[in-house]
Amino acid sequence: ARTLLDVRDLRVHFPTADGLVRSVDGLSFSLAPGRTLGIVGESGSGKSVTSQAILGLHRGTRAQVSGSISFDGVDLLGLPTRELRRLRGNEIAMIFQDPLSALHPYYTVGRQIAEAYRVHHSVGKRQALARAEEMLDLVGIPNAGRRLHEYPHQFSGGMRQRAMIAMALVNDPRLLIADEPTTALDVTVQAQILELMKKLQQEFGSAIIVITHDLGVVADIADDVLVMYAGHAVEQGAVADVFYRPQMPYTWGLLASMPRVENPRGQRLATIAGSPPSLIAPPAGCRFHPRCAYRGLVEGDACVTSAPQLATTEPGHLVRCHLEAAERARVLGNMKDGV
Ligand code: SF4
Ligand code: MG
Repeated sequence: ARTLLDVRDLRVHFPTADGLVRSVDGLSFSLAPGRTLGIVGESGSGKSVTSQAILGLHRGTRAQVSGSISFDGVDLLGLPTRELRRLRGNEIAMIFQDPLSALHPYYTVGRQIAEAYRVHHSVGKRQALARAEEMLDLVGIPNAGRRLHEYPHQFSGGMRQRAMIAMALVNDPRLLIADEPTTALDVTVQAQILELMKKLQQEFGSAIIVITHDLGVVADIADDVLVMYAGHAVEQGAVADVFYRPQMPYTWGLLASMPRVENPRGQRLATIAGSPPSLIAPPAGCRFHPRCAYRGLVEGDACVTSAPQLATTEPGHLVRCHLEAAERARVLGNMKDGV
């Protein structure tokens, strides 16, 4: 398939008084039009920093960004800021966890969506407002013509999230980046919002990057998944492959902590012991080794002394782990047997 977004060896480092924080440390992935990529990891894994880099939000800060980000053949890192602004909100749009960070409290919802449209289209206010109404209607806000004139605080949390999606989609973006889009919402509304995003994607054909700590969201909406740990991709591939044949201990831990059908209340079954490492001085060898329960299965002390590289385990499925294929298959077999 044609590539819309191609990220190669992306690094985002922040100089601090304590040293260089390597938030993203050599990340590569690509995304085709109409596809959804889930980027999953704990907080501090580098997933949000990655999306900020795509949007060029580190410009004018002390962050050191290197590698390449190509959007439909255009090099985003080298693009003049004026041209980047023309893409942002238009070709590339963003939705956030907290709609109140995107919606201004003093203006009506309709006016804000209309203004977002007028930034990139030369149309009059009436026409832009009509477009805003159409968008509110499209995202399932009842009585859109009336609610257009209400303020964000008059909307419920779920309705605000819909309004933000309407604003993000008003310019028909080719890439939508959603950072924890449903985290603040209750389970029922979460499901409705994910359903809405899927529906709109079919309608608009946008590619979506959804950033989440929740593999359940990935299972619901994504085609491909990239698992991040401490600034690295540790596993990536098609959702079906990664969910049915996860190949490394961190992904095993994430999957084990997913709420199950038998657990509709969303209880966490297990969590991964320990916490994410320092990004100033990450552990030597495998960055996950201080928390890994499986490193005893690897010969010698490779997990502690040598950094595993991303390697292909099946077409399109990459994994960063020293475990031998036979060991991985054995562990996976035991998990499926419920051992
Ligand atoms: Fe665990 Fe070693 Fe694999 Fe890292 S390389 S995930 S420490 S087994
Ligand atoms: Mg557009």
